[in-house]
Amino acid sequence: MYLIGNGRVITNDKDGSFFEKGAVLTDGDSIKRVGLYAELKDACPEAEFIDAEGGIIMPGMINAHAHLYSTLMSGYALKDFTPDSLYENLCKRSWKLDGELDFYDVAAGAYAGLIRCIRNGVTTVFDHHASFKGVKGSLFAIAGAVQETGVRGCLCYETSQRCGFKACSEAIAENESFLGYCESFGDSRLKAMFGLHAPFTLSDFDITDCVNRNAGRVGFHVHVSEGAEDGSVCLLNYGKTPLGRLSELGAVTDRSILVHCVHTKDKELDIIAASGASVVNCPQSNMSNAVGAAAVTDMLNKGIRVGLGTDSFTFDMLETARAFVLAERSRTGKCYTGVPQAAKLLFENNREIAEQYFPKGIGTLTEGAPADVIVLDHKPLTRFDAENAYPQLILGASGADCAMTMCAGRVLMRDRKIVAFDEEGIREKIRRSSDALWERLDASGDKTWFPPYGDLRK
Ligand SMILES: [Zn+2]
Repeated sequence: MYLIGNGRVITNDKDGSFFEKGAVLTDGDSIKRVGLYAELKDACPEAEFIDAEGGIIMPGMINAHAHLYSTLMSGYALKDFTPDSLYENLCKRSWKLDGELDFYDVAAGAYAGLIRCIRNGVTTVFDHHASFKGVKGSLFAIAGAVQETGVRGCLCYETSQRCGFKACSEAIAENESFLGYCESFGDSRLKAMFGLHAPFTLSDFDITDCVNRNAGRVGFHVHVSEGAEDGSVCLLNYGKTPLGRLSELGAVTDRSILVHCVHTKDKELDIIAASGASVVNCPQSNMSNAVGAAAVTDMLNKGIRVGLGTDSFTFDMLETARAFVLAERSRTGKCYTGVPQAAKLLFENNREIAEQYFPKGIGTLTEGAPADVIVLDHKPLTRFDAENAYPQLILGASGADCAMTMCAGRVLMRDRKIVAFDEEGIREKIRRSSDALWERLDASGDKTWFPPYGDLRK
């Protein structure tokens, strides 16, 4: 049992409870009580005390879209490469990386991303994986890292034809195999979705195959209309919009995650709204790739559940929420918009998305909820209460403030030191793996990966 107290408690439950001097009592992997520090301290003197020292005690945060493996590329730059579009960046950089990743890189990439999650107070991550030189067994390798590091992971392989038919078939089989494993042996921290890369790198046959093999068990995790290419290829080759295709083929369900939707047409938004599927917005990634900004407020007004992900541009969800505010203000020209929407995406909608896969109560500090608790060493100089807690966090705090991370009742980081595993030893392995990968990437020349129908630029 742990008593995490002497801090401001944000419960993030439907009532929006707040305790100025509060505490959370955990028992095993769940929360036993939440309330006033003075009362809980006396009620349970045998619990091990974690002192929040006046900071903020809140639920572990949820990242609804990441690519853990891409952490291995942090700091790597292709020489003399300045892509003029998302498409060129994908063909010459992103797909080059995951086309080069082998089975041995997968675990290193997963550990690297998961360390960053823990350090930023993220206890649940929805990962979208690709490693086309080591497809088979890759999700199981990531699962091993999830289990050892102690976070919650919902995993899938991003099925795509961009590395050929054989690799695509292996990707579909990997999704199916891992889903079966989770159904038989998974636990409350390990879940599966069915992964698709994006409509423009998949044939109707591939998508139908995935839908049939999934057989309605989980939702699909898929990029949609990140750039304009997705729409133009789908219209040219299939006479349909990306959402029109996915929906007709059965991949848009109420448990599906549609990432980006920057170039999604208004009619397509109606398809999403009718399906109950979630959109996940990744503002920094969209700005970095210069693809524009998704019409998030319009989506929310249509009743679409929009969550927040990082696309691994960062692992800091508060920084991401802050970037969303700026993107939304820039997109709409309204300088006072964005903060309530950011709070809804990060604290309400990500909670609802996670609850579709993980135990009830995730993303809240309530009795019986999973014991996913973080402490932020953040002490605003001005008023901080139930009314302005989210704006204060979104505009003033960051993941780097996280001093303590607990997931499923296990302390993963305390006083900013990871205690759940040998971080230094794992860092050494990550470094060896990334050095070898960078050498291979340098040696592989300027090979360009194309979708199965060839170069779009011709
Ligand atoms: Zn992505």
